[in-house]
Amino acid sequence: MSELLDGKAVAAAIRAEVAQGVEELVASGGRPPGLTVVLVGDDPASQVYVGSKVRACTEVGMVSRKIARPAATTQEELAAIVDELNQDETIDGMLLQLPLPRHIEERPLLERILPAKDVDGFHPVNAGRLWLDLPGFVPATPAGILELLKRRGTPLAGRRAVVVGRSNTVGKPMAALLLRENCTVTLCHSKTADLAAVAREGDILVAAVGRPGLVSAEHVKDGAVVIDVGINRVSDRATVERLFPGDARKLAQLEQKGAVLVGDVDFVRVAPKASAITPVPGGVGPLTVAMLLVNTLKAARRRQGLDA
Ligand code: NAD
Repeated sequence: MSELLDGKAVAAAIRAEVAQGVEELVASGGRPPGLTVVLVGDDPASQVYVGSKVRACTEVGMVSRKIARPAATTQEELAAIVDELNQDETIDGMLLQLPLPRHIEERPLLERILPAKDVDGFHPVNAGRLWLDLPGFVPATPAGILELLKRRGTPLAGRRAVVVGRSNTVGKPMAALLLRENCTVTLCHSKTADLAAVAREGDILVAAVGRPGLVSAEHVKDGAVVIDVGINRVSDRATVERLFPGDARKLAQLEQKGAVLVGDVDFVRVAPKASAITPVPGGVGPLTVAMLLVNTLKAARRRQGLDA
């Protein structure tokens, strides 16, 4: 059986380090870091994510604020909120919780955020700096995955890494980070021919697709380290039965909650082949919030002239 990679435990360690960093900042006469999260509309998953981000900030001694606006908010109103937060000296980091409602264009708003306050790392300046190996803000999910791999001493230099999914928020920055660690990186996507054959080359395999259980045994090399980024709510009984054969607990969960949380990896079939694997939930998810705190502390230190 493979090693279960405990994202929760690593996230707790990172959060404790951030709490200490905040304490030191304040003890040396600095201002506690401030993060503002902008939530538009009433998407239940976004509300949960925002709630956990705000709570996590408070727990490590940061000042956090949620700005909630109705789904009907206009592009101009959101631009004005971003401008205001850009100018507010007490705000070190801000983020727009994605996805925004359909009538809003995300890109112009993401580009309006000052790169120095862009703790999500979605601004083109930060994305560019990542690919140029320059300091900047790295998106929290891939940054958390790299932290997980490094803290357990996963060999990276010279290893084959395959990333499935090329989103700007996960897949692409993940590829850049693994490349920076001297992996030989392959980035796969929905048009990749013979995905299973390509994925099987990975000593490290990261799945960030948004398709429940897409990565199965035939995609995985024996002994690979498998990272599952996917968070999919599956409400279809046949899919739950296929992915978790004979698992009464998952079926009970489906009955009680109406859905089961499933990753992009077919855990039951992949775990026996992998040397290590992240669970869903409890793998990558907690690391994302922890790394957002790391970015916010970094932003605060920089804005207070403490880091280059
Ligand atoms: P996205 O929809 O922006 O991108 C999905 C990518 O998968 C695309 O690049 C697409 O080309 C690729 N893809 C789609 N179908 C494919 C197929 N059949 N074969 C190969 N590639 C295919 O998604 P995203 O924002 O990168 O998120 C991916 C998953 O990760 C989602 O389930 C999301 O909920 C989850 N997520 C989790 C966290 C976390 O903290 N754990 C953070 C962000 C995203």
